[in-house]
Amino acid sequence: MIEIIIGEFCFSASHKLTFENGSGSNIHGHEWHLTVFVRSLDPDETGISINYQLLRDMIQEQVDRLNRKFLNDLPIFAGKNPTDEMISKVLFQVLSEKINSQDHQVCAVEIWHSGRRHIKYSREVCIDDPK
Ligand SMILES: [Zn+2]
Repeated sequence: MIEIIIGEFCFSASHKLTFENGSGSNIHGHEWHLTVFVRSLDPDETGISINYQLLRDMIQEQVDRLNRKFLNDLPIFAGKNPTDEMISKVLFQVLSEKINSQDHQVCAVEIWHSGRRHIKYSREVCIDDPK
């Protein structure tokens, strides 16, 4: 099995957070960075396991949907608090729906907007190589 780390993508967006005690943040923006981890079958006879450019394009399309947006207003965050943790989880779900196949699956999404903290949302994935 191969793990391909695809990065780095960036998007600028704003969000407003609600905290446990009922308080909230003001609307503010960040430039988020994103790396996607994909597990794939072993390379075929040509030495290729995945169409890397197609994968990049699929991720970029989803990143573009967030760029210069107020995240709280987007349907994918409806009813959700768009924290870094939630953003990584939602991106994991969206990218999994777009990318996953019998041959490759998203296994983690990592985001950050400063050097102080990276959030990595991951799930165990299993790809059965018939060879
Ligand atoms: Zn923030």
